[in-house]
Amino acid sequence: MPEDIPNSHRTGPDDQGRFGIFGGRFVSETLMPLILELEAEYERAKTDDSFWAEMADLWTHYVGRPSPLYHAERLTQHLGGAKVYMKRDELNHTGAHKINNVLGQIILARRMGKTRIIAETGAGQHGVATATVCAKFGLKCVVYMGAHDVERQAPNVFRMKLLGAEVVPVTSGRGTLKDAMNDALRDWVTNVRDTFYCIGTVAGPHPYPAMVRDFQSIIGKETREQMMAAEGRLPDTLVAAIGGGSNAMGLFHPFLDEPTVNIVGVEAGGKGVDDRMEHCASLTGGRPGVLHGNRTYLLQDDDGQILEGFSISAGLDYPGIGPEHAWLHETGRARYVAITDAEALEAFQLCCALEGIIPALEPSHALAQVMKMAPDLPADHLIVMNMCGRGDKDIFTVARALGVDIAG
Ligand SMILES: *Cc1c(COP(=O)(O)O)cnc(C)c1O
Repeated sequence: MPEDIPNSHRTGPDDQGRFGIFGGRFVSETLMPLILELEAEYERAKTDDSFWAEMADLWTHYVGRPSPLYHAERLTQHLGGAKVYMKRDELNHTGAHKINNVLGQIILARRMGKTRIIAETGAGQHGVATATVCAKFGLKCVVYMGAHDVERQAPNVFRMKLLGAEVVPVTSGRGTLKDAMNDALRDWVTNVRDTFYCIGTVAGPHPYPAMVRDFQSIIGKETREQMMAAEGRLPDTLVAAIGGGSNAMGLFHPFLDEPTVNIVGVEAGGKGVDDRMEHCASLTGGRPGVLHGNRTYLLQDDDGQILEGFSISAGLDYPGIGPEHAWLHETGRARYVAITDAEALEAFQLCCALEGIIPALEPSHALAQVMKMAPDLPADHLIVMNMCGRGDKDIFTVARALGVDIAG
């Protein structure tokens, strides 16, 4: 399968940010100079040892990397097939993988002399990670958040404020993540001199999808070394949940050139992937279009209007997917499946009971896929799933879904 994948696929994107027909930079003339300045700075940083040394220092002493690669022994026994490992990125400072990328972008912003950081956030996880790193470096932080999400995610709004960020409720459109990202892009073009836009996933115009992927690739690089140390060989299957696709790209990317490694991305199937569109499975249930500066698969109606989508997991309800995933899907290098809310809830509970780990609802989708696959695989088949976030933030949602009253 991977033999016939063009080179650009492995090292991509091309110099216009395209992964095949996906990606690119569909932006206004006013935004273009900013994008080009960012690209030039990132190209310089990429080959600068001092940049990566600063990253490594912060990853170690601030984030707590490397995260463990953990053999889930009781889960493996329970499923009765493949040997299941978890990459424990939920143990990072702030409880998820988002900070890996935020640190990279903010170190870049500091090198560029920018003093004001803006970000979009949906569930609030990326906003919290950005506010955290801004506090650490004494940078001004403005987070755009859909007004509807501000209401739904009150604890994260309060966290961001404690960390010194200004949270701007966005009332345009339907007041959700898509609209927050539009407003953040608008802010950027009007505050050219001092502002850096820190995007939270592998989306947006080039160079963001490749840059965010590179920062998150620490997940896959560590996994490679840790698996070699534990088993003396590469894993056979990788599984990760997909919202915009950054934790998945981070795990997958260092293995794309390894033909023996199966790669599975798990989208949010919500109430089921059908015409009612009550899901967030852009690849499984959407089609190509342009949003937020790149071409990719999107949830849209017959007229091309972007749909909101639905998932029990707030972190997975982005109506698009990173363009590199669209490309991996088209070339067949990775396989994409959908897991429903009900399946994710079951995996969530099993993980708590068997491993003593309360997972976020996002990686519970990946775990549900592992539960489907593992029983039919031999005992020497090595699976790694990305435990990309901890579930403390989700206990109220889970309680409600299970009909348990914990409000007190
Ligand atoms: C934000 C988030 C996601 C979805 O984002 P990706 O870019 O697809 O990784 C998944 N899991 C957790 C825990 C998150 O916070």
